[in-house]
Amino acid sequence: MGILIDSRGLSMRFSIYTIVLMMNDFEIWFERLSSLYRSQMRQAASAAGLQVVHLEILQYLSIGNRYSNTAQALSEYLGQTKGSISQSLKILDKDGYVARKPCLKDKRITRLFLTKRGRVSLEKMSSLLMPNLGETEKDVDAIRLLLQKWQANNNHKGFGQCLSCRYNRQLSDAKFQCGLTGESLSKSETRQICREHEFLIVKQT
Ligand code: SF4
Repeated sequence: MGILIDSRGLSMRFSIYTIVLMMNDFEIWFERLSSLYRSQMRQAASAAGLQVVHLEILQYLSIGNRYSNTAQALSEYLGQTKGSISQSLKILDKDGYVARKPCLKDKRITRLFLTKRGRVSLEKMSSLLMPNLGETEKDVDAIRLLLQKWQANNNHKGFGQCLSCRYNRQLSDAKFQCGLTGESLSKSETRQICREHEFLIVKQT
């Protein structure tokens, strides 16, 4: 027990031993990591004269695959309303960071692409985000597994890296196929993320 003196000079007893943490150790470290990343994002975006959401959009468009580069997918990925995504896209389009093109297969759909200015600016901002931590494949696997468990727990799917999708078929060293659409995928495309992604469930023996 300790003693506190309030503004009226009255003493009050308090316990210094009953600190109740409302987050477990995992959440504390996870929160610290994500707030550090958010803070770096704010700094990087501000140095480029942009808002964090603009940086998030540029990041997404640099990794989203050909099935995922729409305003609708963006709003699902970022968890923002279509209206607010549309406002941000208007700014990025006007300032030459993003281009819109009609889908070659379905003219009703508008696809979003990074312009050269968008790529150069994203490259600059990315260099301010994370130092080289010498992360290993094991570190990447641990993060992927965490996402997989989280999504399974919340019954969420989508937006995972194509390589880890249950529909991904490897035909040869450099040739892949999407089992959902039947279309061919290049090796580099299998590193992109996709809104249709579903984790391949590996059964434990
Ligand atoms: S294999 Fe999965 S992640 Fe890859 S393009 Fe097809 S649905 Fe998307």
